[in-house]
Amino acid sequence: MQALQILNDVFGYNSFRSGQEEIINNLLDKKNILAVMPTGAGKSLCYQIPALIFSRGTIVVSPLVALMDDQILSLKENGVAADRIHSHISEELNKKTLDNFKKGKIKILYLSPENLMSEKTLQELSDTDIAMFAIDEAHCISKWGVSFRPQYEELSQLSKIYPDSIIAGFTATADKNTREDIVKKLSNYNSKIFIQGFDRPNLSLAVELKDDWKKQILIFLENKNGESGIIYCLSRKQTEDVSLFLNKNNYNAIPYHAGQDSSTRKSNQEIFMNDRGVIIVATIAFGMGINKSNVRFVAHLSLPSSIEAYYQEIGRAGRDGNPAETLLLYGLNDLFQRRRFIENDGDDIQHKLRENKRLDSLLAYCETPICRKKSLLSYFDEKVEDCNNCDNCLIPPKMLDGTKLAQMALSAIYRTGQYFGTIHIINILLGNKTDKIIEKKHDKIKTFGIGNNYKKDFWQGFIRQLISSGHIIINIKKFGCLQITRSGLEILKDKKYFNYKEIIVKEPKSAKNNRIKVIADIDDNDLKILTALKELRLNIAREKSIPAFVIFTDLSLIEMAKFKPESLQEMIKINGVGPSKLKKYGSSFLAVINK
Ligand code: ADP
Repeated sequence: MQALQILNDVFGYNSFRSGQEEIINNLLDKKNILAVMPTGAGKSLCYQIPALIFSRGTIVVSPLVALMDDQILSLKENGVAADRIHSHISEELNKKTLDNFKKGKIKILYLSPENLMSEKTLQELSDTDIAMFAIDEAHCISKWGVSFRPQYEELSQLSKIYPDSIIAGFTATADKNTREDIVKKLSNYNSKIFIQGFDRPNLSLAVELKDDWKKQILIFLENKNGESGIIYCLSRKQTEDVSLFLNKNNYNAIPYHAGQDSSTRKSNQEIFMNDRGVIIVATIAFGMGINKSNVRFVAHLSLPSSIEAYYQEIGRAGRDGNPAETLLLYGLNDLFQRRRFIENDGDDIQHKLRENKRLDSLLAYCETPICRKKSLLSYFDEKVEDCNNCDNCLIPPKMLDGTKLAQMALSAIYRTGQYFGTIHIINILLGNKTDKIIEKKHDKIKTFGIGNNYKKDFWQGFIRQLISSGHIIINIKKFGCLQITRSGLEILKDKKYFNYKEIIVKEPKSAKNNRIKVIADIDDNDLKILTALKELRLNIAREKSIPAFVIFTDLSLIEMAKFKPESLQEMIKINGVGPSKLKKYGSSFLAVINK
């Protein structure tokens, strides 16, 4: 019951979310755990609440400075004695923080793995009892995971150095192998594993073939002016180009990438965190540790590296539980580029095999004709019903017999010795007499011009489907030439059928009609109050130089606008309003509501 009381009294929430209470109870029983919970499920409270109950201190290991800063701001806003140590803070201040932790003045201390495991810190802490180590982003300890970090590997020493402390790992992404590896490294298999469903029902999923990204992104953004969103790009230059393009189309977009100097990056991130209605156009350098709860959409303008990465990136939308939209645009070029990244990434063959497999799974997801939620979650071993909220559920794709067409494409590849890339093969199918075709005498082969009833775009989509179904592979070592697999040969020899998803170029209108409404269910008068409350929040955030959501989340403001508390006693009943925030902000927000 103590845990529930802290949830109410410190964090201002009424009830636990699914999974939280069980994890907290296990930690209070001093059991090691590994919790796999989707982004936004509320992992932080799972260790913060026990940390406030334990008499000794808790250390939270976190990989990123931004992540630590955000968490500490939020905790301090709730009146919790917590702090962090990292390289952006002066040595003197860091030392003071460590002293305060040792003296018990700080209950929760955030550290990076390398800092914690440094000889100096371990020495400093050698005479301090530590109740618990909470390891955030725990998948980084495993080479099987999506983002192995060598600095995390050292953490496997923790359970030996501190046999009496609880070790709690948290991650949003870990398949079975990765989970076992994490548990082995963190506690020598002595952890209870909790897996919270991956489903995020408020996220709608859509994937489109990229034919004209400018048109496609404008359609996607049509009803989203004034909302916060993230658009992911593959390159730094692309983030700049896309952001400029959106500015020209009256969207408030700003770029973010690792090539910017750190002050620009910081200020762009702050604008996104504080202002309403900003679209951040970013490389994947942006995102980890972004704890903004009202991100209403995430779009990818090119293929992510894996389903895990995609899931984590779209997971940044809709953390407040309100509907949020996602869109992934991809084309064959992205695929080449991704394969090239893998090929050029070191010499570890096993690693390359794994990464290529990951990419294949993502491709299969992109091309799936079934419910996207079903396809995505089956990758994480989870079965769900049709979501009725994704593109495939809303407009089910038609499946057509493509055996003859496949034979045309496969034959063009086969007859040219499996030495050529997609563009050349499509030119052969279309009967285009390019210089290369004339030079190689490919206008003389039987397949030349055989597919000229269809357009180039069609063939690109069709060949992509042959690739994602595993009938053709792209050989990156041989400059991206297309090669036929065993199953492809069976199609060529008429021993196997090939069904493909109908290829249509979407017109703006049909896409628009099927958009999902993302604005909270709120009437006009309440909307006015909500706008005024957001205005107030923004002013306070600017004054205090802290992110707006740290003050109150959108959901809290919506509740205030709807229920219109008239006194502080009523105000504290609002979700997300605890005593500390009530004291700091209660009366000013009340004044706005009652005006
Ligand atoms: P995760 O680390 O799993 O991605 P967070 O811990 O950042 O998620 O939590 C996401 C959001 O949900 C935060 O704004 C947090 O305050 C909120 N939250 C967590 N638990 C609860 C709860 N029991 N009731 C209401 N909101 C909650």
